[in-house]
Amino acid sequence: MRKNIVAGNWKMNKTLREGIELAKEVDQLLKDAVINCDVVLGVPFIHLASVVQAVDSKKIGIAAQNCADKESGAYTGEVSAAMIKSTGAGYVILGHSERRAYYGETPEMLKIKTELVLKHGLKPVFCIGEVLEEREKGIHFDVVKAQMAASLFDLSAEEFSTVTLAYEPVWAIGTGKTATPEQAQEMHAFVRRTIADRYGKELAETISILYGGSANPQNAKELFSNPDVDGGLIGGASLKAADFKAVIDGFNK
Ligand code: PEP
Repeated sequence: MRKNIVAGNWKMNKTLREGIELAKEVDQLLKDAVINCDVVLGVPFIHLASVVQAVDSKKIGIAAQNCADKESGAYTGEVSAAMIKSTGAGYVILGHSERRAYYGETPEMLKIKTELVLKHGLKPVFCIGEVLEEREKGIHFDVVKAQMAASLFDLSAEEFSTVTLAYEPVWAIGTGKTATPEQAQEMHAFVRRTIADRYGKELAETISILYGGSANPQNAKELFSNPDVDGGLIGGASLKAADFKAVIDGFNK
């Protein structure tokens, strides 16, 4: 009914040559493998066009990790959704907590970015998640709901149906502290109910909700076995082809 997806987020790692090598290694590992999910690589902007060429597009989708909140013009250093589309990439990761925290991305900016991504026929992988203090205060559900409402809930149902969500508790990203499978399932079920309240249950059932935060070959299978966890957004463990493949294998019975 909905897709399982494992998406890598390379962040600001790998030179162009290293990135092409890594993409080719992943491609090789998936070549004759039976996999039970879609696979996406989230790569730096300058790698996009080359990595698109380096992999079998029937098996591997390519994502940018951000895009500009403007269509085009005098915005030195920015990369537009149209430019990303022109590389052959199919996805854009938006609202990653590192971009919210270090680059001042606001819910309003992310709303505009989401609209531009959709306008150019790309699929957003939209990140949501609370910081530790918010979880400790018990307001994590409110925080996540507010993030979705502020940036996504003005989309039409048709537009929203192309969005993939990634629940990434900020306290779990790059820290080695994974959310427990119960914590992940609890929040994913909440996210799906929140989508259902806005767009209806039928549409909510079709939306893939990925977990992100120190997912790795050891914990992927247990995380993915939860009914509302439809895959993962994988940082550190996506930087080695064998580890990334082992996470993908978390979907094998
Ligand atoms: C991420 O960057 O989205 C992420 C989940 O990172 P890590 O897997 O390294 O925690």
